[in-house]
This record gives sequence, structure tokens and C-alpha cells, in this order.
Amino acid sequence: DETGQADTRDRKVEICKRSYELLTREVGFPPEDIIFDPNIFAVATGIEEHDNYAKDFIEACGKIREVCPHSMTSGGLSNVSFSFRGNNPVREAMHSVFLYHAIQNGLSMAIVNAGQLAIYADIDPELRDLVEDVVLNRRSDGTDRLVDRAPAFANSGEEVVESLAEWRSKPVNERLEYALVNGIDQYAVEDTEEARLSSARPLDVIEGPLMDGMNTVGDLFGAGKMFLPQVVKSARVMKKAVAHLVPFIEAAKAESGESSEQGIIIMATVKGDVHDIGKNIVGVVLQCNNYKVIDLGVMVPTQVILDAAKEHNADIIGLSGLITPSLDEMVTVASEMERQGFDIPLMIGGATTSPAHTSLKIEPSYSGDTVYVKDASRAVGVAAKLLGEQKEAFALELKRDHEAKRGSYAHKKAAPMLSFEEAVARRDKLEFTPEVIQEPAQLGVHVLDDYPLTALLDTIDWMPFFNAWEFSGRFPDILNDPIKGVEAKKLFNDAQVMLERIIDENWLQARAVYGLFPAYSRDNQIVILDPQSYEPLETTHWLRQQKPMPDGKPQLCLADFIAPESESVRDYIGAFAVTAGHGIDTHVKGFEESHDDYSAIMLKALADRLAESFAEHLHRRVRTEFWGYAADETLDNGQLIREQYRGIRPAPGYPSCPDHREKETLFRLLDVENNTGITLTESMAMTPTASVSGFYFGHPDARYFNLGKITNDQLVAYSEARSEPLAVAQRWLAPVLAN
Ligand code: SAH
Repeated sequence: DETGQADTRDRKVEICKRSYELLTREVGFPPEDIIFDPNIFAVATGIEEHDNYAKDFIEACGKIREVCPHSMTSGGLSNVSFSFRGNNPVREAMHSVFLYHAIQNGLSMAIVNAGQLAIYADIDPELRDLVEDVVLNRRSDGTDRLVDRAPAFANSGEEVVESLAEWRSKPVNERLEYALVNGIDQYAVEDTEEARLSSARPLDVIEGPLMDGMNTVGDLFGAGKMFLPQVVKSARVMKKAVAHLVPFIEAAKAESGESSEQGIIIMATVKGDVHDIGKNIVGVVLQCNNYKVIDLGVMVPTQVILDAAKEHNADIIGLSGLITPSLDEMVTVASEMERQGFDIPLMIGGATTSPAHTSLKIEPSYSGDTVYVKDASRAVGVAAKLLGEQKEAFALELKRDHEAKRGSYAHKKAAPMLSFEEAVARRDKLEFTPEVIQEPAQLGVHVLDDYPLTALLDTIDWMPFFNAWEFSGRFPDILNDPIKGVEAKKLFNDAQVMLERIIDENWLQARAVYGLFPAYSRDNQIVILDPQSYEPLETTHWLRQQKPMPDGKPQLCLADFIAPESESVRDYIGAFAVTAGHGIDTHVKGFEESHDDYSAIMLKALADRLAESFAEHLHRRVRTEFWGYAADETLDNGQLIREQYRGIRPAPGYPSCPDHREKETLFRLLDVENNTGITLTESMAMTPTASVSGFYFGHPDARYFNLGKITNDQLVAYSEARSEPLAVAQRWLAPVLAN
């Protein structure tokens, strides 16, 4: 409530009671439909004030039942044992003890991992006592005693690592399975050949040990006991083994009808988009689970996708995309599927896609099953449901879910918006004085060719690398995480090894162009001038927030950060484009040809890191040397990643400037194509994908913001300023238009 969290028993009861009264008396909400979650907090944290948290919750459950008749209580259990991360036996015991007492006291339900819950009666009596002391706060040294004894109850944590000799002396089928589960590809071909020689048909090797191994991998991944990099390594073993068998299978003219595939899935990154790390990962995971994946690559036009689906008699089409224009393209694919009479399920995934966009925009265009897939770990479950025995029930569930999302969207009250005129009147008025504005040391356009990659190592931000592999957390803490640490470290080491090869063997070339120019703003535009003649070179167009900002804060537009023409001082703007992706294709192709998706994905992820790092590195050089307004800046990499420097480098397509087309202007301004070899697709995606571009703003008050939605009056003004038909602006700004 207004004063903070519901931490003690009385606070929990008081706040629930107050909402209960509001709900039942003023809103007319049925009391039996109310479920309170009165906050489970962690105990045994070492902070004395936390010691009674569990007891407070347990007691509150009873009290809430009493003062809020017919209501129910719930809580997320895992919080309570947070201090014992990494020691599951102790956590499970804590959950079990906590539930046992809370239920007795009236708790109606809880959010709990049912697969990881000890049975109260089966808990080791010593552990149960220790845990009960803590949960019920029975003695002041309870935490210390539990902490002391906890390691004795922990799983050893160490996997039983078989020695190489032991593994290699096992029967071949077991060796293959072991290699799959542990992702060791070294002996894949040799073992597969041995298995083939002792099998009646080459196909038996796939359907026997290989499938067994992959099923184990699928189960472990599904249960959260294996992580994505491990799965991708397992797939590498599988692919190498299968590749060895294929010629024999074909020679034996095996009946094609006897394939044991779960289904055929067409995967594609839609037209205009070039990003494929996510799609490739999903493809690998599906293949591991015995789906046949036909990957059409990137920038795939609708008709190519649909023709391939027909040709291969596909069971599912999976679309992927990373940039906002791809959302529209997916709607086109869905509409065409409808028009051409398709009825197979459509899976939607990729960074900009969302459950809301899928329900609101894509699903209404297609009457077949349409489903949003959040990440690789969900893809298999979704595909299985789409094609499995319960598919009718699942289809119904999907339809209902889409309806519900559309319903709740339709009922959402439109947020009040300022008129565009009013928003402009409330723009940010910065101070533009000779003290804050500094003339760049190097005006004009400059190229950095074949930039040394070694110079880019210091400023790498590793967290997005781990995110690409579906690890969350912080770097470098993740390397010591009790659960993910071991695999995270292996992944990180593999990355270092490849990074060394990238550098030593010159796999990638880095190039950059940057430019610094005089400029002035005019309402929502920034006019960029020739440094010699002061003639306009380009006019850039930006959008302004229309959702009213709280406390009279300004309605921002990037143009506010550049001095208006009327100011007496001359202001400046910069722009840049960097890439670390030249040369990548041959190496990716090499890996893919040797069935090594793990290395192919790794290389792409590293090239992305180098490009982002180049953007960071170049930005620092611009601040300290080329523009020079922060000549004595000394920030370490952590501070750079947290953007603690003066100035910003907004990138078209990001929240302050969602129109990707400002990249077109930027590319003209810097002649990016000739100077760096980066090109733009029709959806304004950059190729090579490992590229970054943006504008430089140097004002100390310049900051990133989220544009939010805009209304029709701004759209009209924008299309007029750009001298383009309204429909064109409408298409590019679709993601930010309020309706
Ligand atoms: N360290 C990250 C890269 C930074 S992402 C990595 O290595 O991947 C942050 C960048 O995104 C910013 O530098 C800017 O270019 C862009 N950005 C972030 N928020 C933005 C916003 N609201 N508007 C425009 N650009 C934004």
C-alpha cells in the first residue's frame, strides 16, 4: 500500500482487509473469487528482521480467512528458501515444512514446483527440526544452525564423470548414447560406423541408440536439467552421426514411408529480415526432438515459404523475425496462408514478436492454429501439442486464449493522450550555451578500415551473449551460479577459444564510418549541415511522446537535444555505422557443412558481441577524441555498459526513434554502403547482421526514452514533413500508432 510492503502479519491482514472491503463493498466483486497473495519473503537471510517472515505469512493465512470471509490465499513458495539457492534438498524441505504449516493454518493454494517437493513425513528428522526452527522462528540461532548443517544434506552436486577409458570400453550403443547426452562429437563418426556394421539396417542406428540418446537429452532439457548450449552440442553429435548414415540409408533404398519423424516443420526468417540466431536455435532443438526441420534461411518471401510447405507436405510453418517491420510481414504470410487454403499450424517467434501482436494482428488473419512461442525451450512442447492426440483441445484452448487477449485489449481504456500540438508545446527546453556545446575536433565523415579486433575485446558486454544462449542473470556472477555456473563456464571457455581463432586466423573484418556535423533542430526535425558550406545535407524526422508525462515533465523528442535554429550557438550531431561481420559467411557455412550448429551459432553470437563492442569503443573515441567533449573521461567497462557517460547513441528502430527508416538517411549521410560494405534490406535490417548504427547526441541532458504511442495528428504531420503518402508512414509506424 502507500507505506510499503506487507511484511508483518498485521500488515498483511490489514492490507488484505482493506482491499477486501473495497472489492466487496464498492466494486461488488464476489468474495469467493478473491485470492490474496500476502507475500512470502525469504527467511534465514542473516538479517534479524527477516526471521519472522515465514511465521508472519502462516499466521496471516488464518487471520485473513477470518476477517475476509470466503476469500482464499496463495503464495509463491520458492521465495522462502531463497537463501539456500544451490542446495535443493534443503530448499525442498523448507517448502514442504512451510506448506505443511501454512495449509494447517488455512492457506488455500500455492505456486510451487510440484516435481520438487519433499514429502513432509519423509524429510530426514534432523533436517526437519532444523527447518522447522527457522520457518516457525522457534529459536534465535535457528538460521545459524541450519546454515551450518545444510551442506551435509546437499546433493554432492558433482556429476559422476566417467573416465574416458571407462566410457570407451562400453558397448557401442551405450557409447553413442553417452556421447549424445554429453555432447562429445569426437568419436561420433567412428562409433556410428561401428553401430551400423552391427545393425541389420543403417536406419536401426538412428531409431535405436541415437533416438534414445536424444530422447534423454530432450527430457533433461524439458526438466530444466540441461541448458541450451548442451542441447546444441548434443545436436551436433546427432547430425554428424546422421550425416554419416544418410548415404548408406539411401544406398539401401530404405522405404521413405517408415520414417519415425514427429512431423515436418518449415522454418524461415521473413522477408526483409536477416536475423537467424533464434530461429537456428529453435530449429536445432526441434531436430533434437525428432522433428524434421526444413530451414529456408533468412529474407524468405511469403510465396517461397508457402511453396516449400506444399512441396514438403509440412505439418507446421514457423516464422521468425527480429525487427519491427517483420511483424507486418508475418501478418502478410498469415493472410496468404488463409487465401491459399492452408490449414496447418503457424508458429510465431523472435525478439519483436509478442503474445499480444500474435493474438491481435496475426491470428485474426488465419483460421488455422496460430501460436506464439516464447523461446527455444517452449518450441518442442508447443509442436507436440499442435500435432499430438490432444490437438483439437489445444486448438480450442488457443482460440479461447486469442479471444481473451483481444477482449481484454478491447476493454482496456485508451490512455489519455495529448494532442500533438500540446505535446510540442511541452517539449524539453535544454540549455544551449557555449559551456555545454563544443565544436567537434574532427568535422566531416571518417572511415576506419580493417580495425584491429584486439582493440575491441575490453568493451565486450558478455551478458547478451549468455542471453542468446538462453541463460539469464548477470555477468560475471553467472559463471559461479550454483545451478548454471558449470555450463555457463564451459560456454564462456568455448567462446574464448573461438575468439582467439577469430583473431589469429582473421575470420572477421571490422569496419566503421563516423561523421560529425553542424546541425540545428526545427520542431521534431534535425537539419544536418555540410561542415564546409553549412548547406543542409539531410533532414532527419523524429517522433514526440504524446502520453502525458507525470509531474509536468517534458514530452520528449530526440530533436529537443539539438539547439534550435534560433539559438545563437551552433550545435552539432554525429552518426556512425560499425560492423564486425565481414568474412563471417564462409566460416558459418563451413561449420554448417560439417553439421556443427554449435560453432555456427557461437560464431554469429561472437560477431554480434564484437560489433556491439565496436559501437561502444567508437563512441568512447568520439567522446574523448574525435568530438572531444569528454576528453578526460575514465570509465571502466561496467560503467560503459551502464551508460554512465555524457551523451547517447540512439539507434533507429529502438524505443526513442522507432522508425527504422532513419537508417536510410544515416546511410546516405555517411555513405555507409561504400565506406563499410553494410547494406540495408527493404525492411531496414543491416547486413552483415553483426552491424550497429546510430546517431550521436552530445548534450549532457540528452537521454534515452520510450516514445510510447502516438496519435493520428502526429502521424499526419510526420507524413507531410516527410512528403510521403499517409499510408506509407502508417505502415512504418504501425507499432507505435494508438488506436
Ligand atoms: N551493451 C549492449 C549494447 C547496448 S544496447 C550490447 O553489447 O549488446 C544499448 C543501445 O541501444 C544504446 O547504445 C542505443 O544505441 C540503443 N538504445 C537503447 N535504448 C534506446 C532508446 N530508448 N532509444 C534509442 N536507442 C536506444
